[in-house]
Formats: sequence, C-alpha cells, structure tokens
Amino acid sequence: MTEFKNFIDGEWVATGRTFEDRNPVDNSVIGLVHEAGQAEIDTAVRAAQAALDGPWGNLTVQQRVDLLYGVADEINRRFDDFLAAEIADTGKPHALASHVDIPRGAANFKVFADMIRNVPTESFSMATPDVGHALNYGVRTPRGVIAVVCPWNLPLLLMTWKVGPALACGNTVVVKPSEETPATATLLGEVMNKVGVPKGVYNVVHGFGPDSAGAFLTAHPGVNAITFTGETRTGEAIMKAAANGVRPVSFELGGKNAGIVFADCDFDAAVAGIARSAFENTGQVCLGTERVYVQRPIYERFVDALAVRVRSLRPGRPLDEGTTFGPLISQEHRSKVLSYYEKARAEGAVVVTGGGVPDMPAGLQAGAWVEPTIWTGLPETSPVIREEIFGPCCHIAPFDTEAEVVVKANDTPYGLAATVWTRDAAVAHRMGRALDVGICWINAWFLRDLRTAFGGAKQSGIGREGGVHSLEFYTELRNVCVKL
Ligand code: NAD
Repeated sequence: MTEFKNFIDGEWVATGRTFEDRNPVDNSVIGLVHEAGQAEIDTAVRAAQAALDGPWGNLTVQQRVDLLYGVADEINRRFDDFLAAEIADTGKPHALASHVDIPRGAANFKVFADMIRNVPTESFSMATPDVGHALNYGVRTPRGVIAVVCPWNLPLLLMTWKVGPALACGNTVVVKPSEETPATATLLGEVMNKVGVPKGVYNVVHGFGPDSAGAFLTAHPGVNAITFTGETRTGEAIMKAAANGVRPVSFELGGKNAGIVFADCDFDAAVAGIARSAFENTGQVCLGTERVYVQRPIYERFVDALAVRVRSLRPGRPLDEGTTFGPLISQEHRSKVLSYYEKARAEGAVVVTGGGVPDMPAGLQAGAWVEPTIWTGLPETSPVIREEIFGPCCHIAPFDTEAEVVVKANDTPYGLAATVWTRDAAVAHRMGRALDVGICWINAWFLRDLRTAFGGAKQSGIGREGGVHSLEFYTELRNVCVKL
C-alpha cells in the first residue's frame, strides 16, 4: 500500500501515526498518510528557516528561475504520475484533470518565474532641506517562511498557485495539503529533489486542521506569513492564529456565486457556460455558480435547456471513456451535500432534475456519488440559496430588471465571483461595476490571464494574488533612503 510521508528538509519522514487516504470513486483505501505532530512541524519550520539563509538565499534570480522552470518541466515529464495521483485522490474525470489540474500545476512555476525577472520597484532622487540630495528606493525581500494550507478540490493547481510565487520571490515553504488529497504535494517533493531545489526550501507536512498539522503549522512562531485556501470558517480560525506575532495572511475562501443570464444573451453559450460553472468538478469549485438568475422572457426555456445538459452528464470511473462527472471528495462531504438536497425538498423546491443518489454499477456503489441537481421555486432566504453547498447543484430563479438582480446577487456575505451572460456591452460593464465580487466574468467562466488579480470580496477572502499582486504578499517592500 502507498505510504504518504512528510517531506522535511529533503527527506521522507514517517511518524507511525497514520490515517487512510480513500478513493472517492469506490471508497477503497489507496494509501496511508503519516500525520505530522508538533515535533515534525518544528523540524519542518526550522529546515525552512535554515534554507533561507543557506544555498537558496544565495542564488541569483536567474538560478532560482532556472530551478523553477526545471520543476515545471519535471512535472510535465512525470505528467502521467501526477495525473494518476490526482485522479486517485479526487476521482476527477481524466479529461478534466489532464486539461486543467496538472497543466496548470506545472504552469504556475513558469508564470511566476517569468514574473520575478521583471519586478518593478520605485526610486526617486530627492532634494533635501540642506540643499543636498538623497536617493530613495525600494527593495523587495522575501518574507521568510510561508505556511501554505491547501484545500482538496484542485489540489496540485491551488497548491502550486501559492508555492510558485512564494519560491519565485525567494521564500521557503511548509505546505499542509488537505488530509483528503495528500498525493500530489508529496509527489512534488520527489520533483524538488530530482531538480536540485535545495533541501528545506519545499516541505510538506500531512494531517488535519484543528489539533493537528494545520493548527500546529499556522500557530508556529517561526512562520512569517500564511497563505490559505479553504472555507471561510477555517479562515477565521487561522486568522486568530496569525494574530499571534501579527503575521500577514492571504485568504481565498468560500463563495455563493451568482450566474446572471440576460434575455439578450447568446442562449446556447449561456446554457453551456452555466452548465460548466455549476457542475464542473462535481460543483466543487470555489468559483462555481450555485445561484442562477435568468431574465423572465427566457427563464423557462433556459431551465429546460440546462436540465437537458445536466441529464447528459455521465458519472463513472475517471478513466472510462465517456465519463464526464466524478464523485464528491468524501463520504463526509457527500452527507453535507445530501443534507442540502433534503433541505431543498423539505422547503418545497421544485426538483427539476437530480435531487438524490445515482444508481451506480457494482463496484462503485460505495463511492461518494450524488446526482447533479437543479432546483427552482425556493425563497431567497432559504439556506440552500444562502449557504455554500460546494456540490453539483444550483437553484434557478427568474428576474425582471437589472437593478433587481444586482440586489439579489449582492445579498450574500460572500463576494468571490459572478458570471454574467449578455450581448449588451453597457449592461456588461454596469454589472462588472455593481457586483460586489473579486472576479466578474462576462460571457465566460474560469478564464483569467494569470497576471491579473485573483481574490474575494467580503467573506470570500483577504488580499489578492496573481501577477504583481502576488509579489505584494510574498515579499516585504523595504525603503532605503541614502543621503548623498
Ligand atoms: P477547509 O477549510 O475545510 O480545509 C482547507 C485546509 O485547511 C485543509 O488542509 C485543512 O486540513 C486545513 N484546516 C482546517 N482547519 C484548520 C485549522 N483550524 N487550522 C489550520 N488549518 C486548518 O476547506 P476544504 O473543505 O478543504 O475546501 C473547500 C472550501 O475551500 C470551500 O469553502 C471552497 O469555497 C474553498 N475554496 C476557495 C477557493 C478560493 O480561491 N477562494 C479555492 C478553492 C476552495
């Protein structure tokens, strides 16, 4: 059986305290994960600190860039290993993992390596009161040891989205992957050693959140900054830990995103777009659309068309040809999603399609399967419409005016993303301005130039990453003033 060990200071560290890693497709055990305790976290943080002052800190930018390019190339060389590991951990269909997760995982190293070669800073020559001059300039330095705490929905992609810029900026990292998806972070340790990234630069500690590796790591005084992707309530706990020592945080948190479809839209594109935004990755995407508002003249036609598409999704083994729909990540998450399916029914929702558990063939019945589901008819106050479900489901409601739909879309504590479908450029720009979100797509979803800012408004996050915005978090900007 595969054992997932901690990767600390370039070595594989077993702890003897193991927990099971399960494949959500059939609930089979695929590996044993060695849980890190306080002692392993101490060692990992110390190793990361030592590497800062050691060979890593002495590299030129070009040498660092070459290593990060090497990491990306090695991920691509071992593409099939990463793909198999990610698929086993998550049950994602092969087409999705091979087109999104692994390529983006590798690309994150190159994108930020490219960026670091052209770091803008400012410099001013200033007159001084004594009729002299001074030169005032900024220098960016690494923050130090960065704790990277990751979720399970896009394990490699979201981890490297943090590790890439952190390392490009000259920091070292201690990564805590989700307990549900330990595989690709562990595999990346092999890549780091193969490519020659100095020991201690990239460390991985396994475990859970509270009273485990996640809490120990984020509370560790040797950690200089914390970047976290996950649930808003976990963000609150981590922020409390970060308050000790006044350490900066970058948070990408939950969402309850609206999809808004105007009557003048390209109808087929809108149906296809919402089908993706609500159901891709079995709805387990922070940017996903769980609330859909459709302008009344096309409402019924849209509900019917979306239902047709959703009924065509094919659950199955990730490698089977024709599989377009995977399981949820775990039995625990399945229970949570199904509890919302129950709530919707109890509140009198019209179940347009789905609403339960699919009839899976022998061998897959123990997997974390649920049906992709569309509801209509719930009041805006329903928990199904207000709370993040993080499953393959959406509620569709009609709207009449632009003003009305803006109020509805913004009536949520979250503010991560929105997707708007219209042919009217003025409407599009007005929506982009009015919707209180970190990213507003017009006639698109999950599309972004990686140089632009990413993050959430309101309870969906703190800070922005992407392009130069990542620099703000992963570097300290020092001001040097030289009297000439
Ligand atoms: P989660 O918050 O349950 O767990 C995320 C990570 O935090 C895991 O590694 C977990 O072990 C760790 N953790 C849990 N409690 C902790 C604690 N007290 N201290 C330190 N670490 C702790 O989230 P999840 O279920 O893995 O992921 C799903 C959530 O992530 C959804 O809410 C989703 O919206 C959000 N998400 C947001 C984005 C974004 O970019 N905004 C991206 C992906 C996922």
